[in-house]
Amino acid sequence: MPINLVFLGPPGAGKGTIASLLSVKKHLVHISTGDIFRYNVQHETPLGLRVKSILAAGEYVPDDITNQLVQNRLKEDDVVAGYVLDGYPRTIPQAQALEDFSSVSFIINFQLSEEEAVARLSGRLVCERCGAGYHIKNMPPKTQGICDSCGGKLVTRVDDQPEAIKKRLDVYQERTSPLIEYYTQKNMLRNVDAGRTKEEVLQSVLDIIS
Ligand code: AMP
Repeated sequence: MPINLVFLGPPGAGKGTIASLLSVKKHLVHISTGDIFRYNVQHETPLGLRVKSILAAGEYVPDDITNQLVQNRLKEDDVVAGYVLDGYPRTIPQAQALEDFSSVSFIINFQLSEEEAVARLSGRLVCERCGAGYHIKNMPPKTQGICDSCGGKLVTRVDDQPEAIKKRLDVYQERTSPLIEYYTQKNMLRNVDAGRTKEEVLQSVLDIIS
């Protein structure tokens, strides 16, 4: 049986970090809709041109575009042992669409206070080449400004600027947090305290899926 997971939680909760670690450990495919959109923006594809200003403002890409993207991605051959969906679904219509084209094992809800989310997002750095994540204080690279894994340049995401951070947290509260109740009703939600070290959070997720 494949393990199909959804990582839910506010921006900054560490979903991407834990998804990368878990996907390697369990041979799952890590699918981050945010990474896919950013890749398209960077390469100026038609999709990228369409969503560039939406991402920069911290708004959500329309559901129909996002659903189609994920549905197509899940049809690819590498999705054998299962997947970790990181940042999808983010709205009730997306959750309903996902039910139509795939079946999810668990929804892992990364719980983090708004203050902690702001603190994490404000110091976040990403490698512009490989997408690896760092934090100025909590997870600094060995050499300032340089990615440990590929030597790429570390940058601040446009949507990690203060205005966009506030917008993203507001949009999360309004449009994504209702999914907590939605999945609780379906008995699919498993809560994880995301305010701990990445090793501890990873262990909690492993305990849930074992
Ligand atoms: P993330 O890297 O998950 O924080 O996503 C970055 C941005 O990509 C979000 O702020 C949205 O603009 C867009 N995005 C990612 N996933 C979704 C989604 N499931 N629905 C709508 N927009 C999304």
